[in-house]
Amino acid sequence: MAVPKKKTSKRRTRNRRAANTKISPIMLSKCPKCGEPKRIHVVCTNCGFYKDKKVLNIETKLDKKIKKEEKQSANGERE
Ligand SMILES: [Zn+2]
Repeated sequence: MAVPKKKTSKRRTRNRRAANTKISPIMLSKCPKCGEPKRIHVVCTNCGFYKDKKVLNIETKLDKKIKKEEKQSANGERE
């Protein structure tokens, strides 16, 4: 009976097994609210909407800018 001469390493085994698996590409669709590309069946990371409902409270860049300016002006008054 033929006997393997050497033990197959973890690397070889895993490499052989990994060759038969496929990574499916991430499905992307356009957000109906903001038009940004988003993953399907997942809340939009840009506006926080899912199926016309606001699920996440995401600050937009404009909101952040306004808040920053408010903070800076408040700090300026104190000093
Ligand atoms: Zn969106």
